[in-house]
Amino acid sequence: MKKIALIACNMIRSGNLCPGDAKCLVAMSRKEGEFKRYENEDAHIVGIVDCGGCEGNKNRVVPSMAVLKMHLTALNEQVDAVHLGTCIMKFCKRKDDLLEAVKEKAGVEVIEGTHAYIPPTIFGR
Ligand code: SF4
Repeated sequence: MKKIALIACNMIRSGNLCPGDAKCLVAMSRKEGEFKRYENEDAHIVGIVDCGGCEGNKNRVVPSMAVLKMHLTALNEQVDAVHLGTCIMKFCKRKDDLLEAVKEKAGVEVIEGTHAYIPPTIFGR
């Protein structure tokens, strides 16, 4: 069984622009987008941490991952792969720095992206 951690954009999460991390969670349950790679295996999201915010995010995302590991270890869980959210990959100007910091410390596969759902139109049907 694969255990997945997600890293999400602090600004988008705190602004409730992606309420409940719904798109990532739905994509995982349907094994769509970047989660399609798990379609033939059991895979679960075990944690979501945010990037730490635009100021100094590179320095905050790694401690956040360490705290997640601490909590998961206490629950006898682990992380097998980390996905950087589509919110980061599509909209973050600091994504290269974030990716570098996460890849340097994760110790597991780091995947760029989560869901592939386009934002809904405002007035269209
Ligand atoms: S650094 Fe990027 S991912 Fe983090 S809050 Fe800012 S825009 Fe979002």
